[in-house]
Amino acid sequence: SIPLGYFGGIGLASKNGILFKGSNFLDVVTQINTVVMDKTGTLTKGVFNVQSVVAVNGDEKELVNLAAAIESKSSHPIASAITAYAGKLSNMMVNEVEEISGKGLKGLVNGKQILAGNTKLLDQFSISYDQSAAGEEDTVVVIAIDGVYAGYITIADELKEDALEAIKAMHELKLQTVMLSGDKQAVVNKIAKLLGIDKAFGDLLPENKVEKVEALKAVGRRIAFVGDGINDAPVVALADAGIAMGGLGSDATIETADIVIQNDQPSKIVTAIKIGRLTKNIVW
Ligand code: ADP
Ligand code: MG
Repeated sequence: SIPLGYFGGIGLASKNGILFKGSNFLDVVTQINTVVMDKTGTLTKGVFNVQSVVAVNGDEKELVNLAAAIESKSSHPIASAITAYAGKLSNMMVNEVEEISGKGLKGLVNGKQILAGNTKLLDQFSISYDQSAAGEEDTVVVIAIDGVYAGYITIADELKEDALEAIKAMHELKLQTVMLSGDKQAVVNKIAKLLGIDKAFGDLLPENKVEKVEALKAVGRRIAFVGDGINDAPVVALADAGIAMGGLGSDATIETADIVIQNDQPSKIVTAIKIGRLTKNIVW
């Protein structure tokens, strides 16, 4: 029979929508024993929908409009959920919006100082909030107006169709599975349980994701990291095999990655590893 070889491996991967940026990565994936994954956009669709709105003063519409006004300046999947839910906004002056990495947004809407993000964002500004926001099993966007907690919006994301099958296949290949997320631990635990993921860490800032991967490398794990977000580029660079979801992914992450999965399916992570193994068996 014709040996698959490195070129054949790259070709086979490409037919499966997997781009290896060098034939050396076919070899690297055979050494992986741990697959570390981002949650949003990697295991979940990254398409959120608003579930509920809780306004301290009872005016839910006004809370949603303020949040949507500031979120209109963000490209985060959370932002699209809130702007879509709010519908068309009128008479909103939005200025000085700043994205605070891993936490959310700060800006001015009609002259009011608005914060919209996770509870870490409000902690950073020493603003206290209703603890029921922290306990929600859905993703929560907590909102403050002029330094005072004003309520929260819950949003939920769906698992990708093949996420469960992908994790099962990783375990069949004896790979350890780890999920890292900037989202709340309660949400992360729910998803990890649904998928049977070995270890899951939430409430992570981008630099905490780097620390987690460094710690795993320090104990000898050989890591494939799979991500999609802007914040994922440093971890993708640090991993033995950096993998990017190419469809929804940010340019920086795709640029940094060793392997790009074009159609965003997590099951393709397993396909990539299997193609590496197949190539190596035939080469050696
Ligand atoms: P991940 O992809 O793991 O969710 P991110 O760094 O993209 O990590 O986001 C981490 C968290 O920061 C989100 O779960 C959310 O709580 C908050 N966040 C980020 N951007 C926004 C935004 N535009 N609006 C509200 N919250 C945000
Ligand atoms: Mg992400």
